[in-house]
Amino acid sequence: MIDVHCHLNFKAFENDYDEVIKRALKKGLELMIVTGTSIESSKKAVELAQKYKEIYAIIGIHPHHADKVENGWDTEIEQLAKMSKVVGIGEVGMDYYSYKSNGVTDPKLQRKIFEKQIEISIENKIPLQIHGRHAGKDIIEIISQYKNQLLEIPGMFHCFAGNLPYLKKVLNMGFYIGFDGNITYEGLAPGEDTALSDLVKYAPLDRLVTETDSPYLTPIPYRWQK
Ligand SMILES: [Zn+2]
Ligand SMILES: [Zn+2]
Repeated sequence: MIDVHCHLNFKAFENDYDEVIKRALKKGLELMIVTGTSIESSKKAVELAQKYKEIYAIIGIHPHHADKVENGWDTEIEQLAKMSKVVGIGEVGMDYYSYKSNGVTDPKLQRKIFEKQIEISIENKIPLQIHGRHAGKDIIEIISQYKNQLLEIPGMFHCFAGNLPYLKKVLNMGFYIGFDGNITYEGLAPGEDTALSDLVKYAPLDRLVTETDSPYLTPIPYRWQK
């Protein structure tokens, strides 16, 4: 089994990532794909991929960080995309959720950063790993602009949420789908209209990928354990 989206590059693991990786391998996990959300965490993901043969990296700027990039960010992403063991551009996308730390990042900026990274993915022929939250309509509209170029290996939507029509559109465009431990949480997450435990049933098995988004979204019954 492969974890196609985790954040061993995050602060939560700075003291024990080696232990966590070894424990996961011992439990039977074969490969881990570590995803970046900024230049810094993307570089860290590449470092981990260089250090462990069972780790690969996905690099990119998360939409929530679209207002924090500095000039030349795109050149850095382009360079990282060419490194060995980098297997995707992510997590990239659109996110209209209002975070406690700084609310919603300017959608225009999010779009600019997302589009540039879609272009980098196409140029380097490596798939996208898309993060979307409450922004399904705009994500579909943006990706549709690149429909013909994305046909061969579009990539995947990570931590999928939304509703059935949205899921169908994403599947029709050739994307794979990842769900996380939050499919075990009861009730609806704020702003959602379809329970994840229902939605997951409509994703065909041959289009599903396994992911954790660790250190986040621990499934029930382990959710609040340390
Ligand atoms: Zn995400
Ligand atoms: Zn993530």
